[in-house]
Amino acid sequence: MQAETKDHAELAAIFNKDEARVDWHDETLWWVRQKRDKAVHVLPEWETLRETASQIKNNVLSNLSEYLQQFEANAQANGIIIHWAADAAAHNAIVLELLLAKGIRKLVKSKSMLTEECHLNEHLESNGIEVIDSDLGERIVQLAKEPPSHIVLPCIHKKKEEIGDLFHTHLGTPKGNADPQFLTETARQHLREIFLTRRAALTGVNFAVAQTGEFVVCTNEGNADMGAHLADIHIASMGIEKIIPERKHLGVFLRLLTRSATGQPITTYSSHFAKPRQGKEIHIIIVDNGRTIQLGREDFRNSLKCIRCGACMNTCPVYRRSGGHSYHTAIAGPIGSILAPNLDMEKYADLPFASTLCGSCTNVCPVKIDIHQQLYKWRQVIVKNGYAPAAKKAAMQLMSHTLSSPAAYHTAGKAGRWALKYIPFAVNNKFNTWYRQRDMPEPPKQSFGEWYHKNRKKK
Ligand code: SF4
Repeated sequence: MQAETKDHAELAAIFNKDEARVDWHDETLWWVRQKRDKAVHVLPEWETLRETASQIKNNVLSNLSEYLQQFEANAQANGIIIHWAADAAAHNAIVLELLLAKGIRKLVKSKSMLTEECHLNEHLESNGIEVIDSDLGERIVQLAKEPPSHIVLPCIHKKKEEIGDLFHTHLGTPKGNADPQFLTETARQHLREIFLTRRAALTGVNFAVAQTGEFVVCTNEGNADMGAHLADIHIASMGIEKIIPERKHLGVFLRLLTRSATGQPITTYSSHFAKPRQGKEIHIIIVDNGRTIQLGREDFRNSLKCIRCGACMNTCPVYRRSGGHSYHTAIAGPIGSILAPNLDMEKYADLPFASTLCGSCTNVCPVKIDIHQQLYKWRQVIVKNGYAPAAKKAAMQLMSHTLSSPAAYHTAGKAGRWALKYIPFAVNNKFNTWYRQRDMPEPPKQSFGEWYHKNRKKK
């Protein structure tokens, strides 16, 4: 488990100790990013799709309460039971209550980042409920007692040999066998037994349709269907932002989602749940947990358009080389760094700084979230609210003074060139965090200003 007290840079330094893993993590995610590029470039209408999705989400965010109430009424008419949860604690209490009311002590869960955000597993387990994550990647990190490091590829930080060791310890596979096909088959058999014996299943919600009261869950393994169809009670946890107005809008989002996530044209299973079968129950828990606060933050409300494709992570040079756990929050990467400070500005004050602001995340986002602009804005809010470390604040103030005064700028430049030339150890030392990863540059003989004064002013 990651240490919660460490910040992104410290946690990234731990990940960076294994250079081979960093290179491989970087290359693997870049390969996924390239698959995404190939999949989107075959669609001439890609930009139109992105713009349409962005506009649909704009409409949703401007009329959220109406769409949610419409969804509630239609879902109830379909026989679904709706619950509202203001925060993570309320969400977890509802799930526990539903299970205990039926005397259920075992739950099978299909990938839901919202339950990670709410720390549902810990809550249920501390109340004597066994939770099994059924997505293969989720199950692997669960066996390793780690949180997911990526929203779509939860165990992307793990090598197949490590997974082989985990399966050997927990599922009794032969020691040293890391053959992916063998391990997948083992997981399949192991999960099949769980699907057949659990009476309750919990899934996430990718899209909830206000017009019909149905919801759609996307998986590549069919695990949501296996869990939900075999259980007596299906609980679906959805954030309030998952609503879309009409069924026809699904086509736009489903085309965007998986192309952006893994480069596939469509998710293997896009399962529609509209009403419970006879004798079974479907419950939907509609969760706020800070989302209405974000909706009220004008500069950041666009982040609620996110459809959790993970494309911004796959392209982010910082994420690729620091690993998902360095973000110490349920949703890592660029979008997580925008969402987390909304929940706790002090605890996640480091995250908006974990970016080069290169804008690659914004370029790939299928719903056109201005991600790098929001990261830049969070930095200002965090500093203004006094949550930036004192050293960073002092350095920024010094930099601001230096860059806004020509005299201070020239003096600082001269002093820097002199120091690099005559006392390089003053800057080339382990206390200089910039130097730790790089070589300091050769100092030029003169500044551009001095050169210009000498060579051009005379002409
Ligand atoms: S912010 Fe955009 S790119 Fe990132 S996960 Fe959300 S939808 Fe995908």
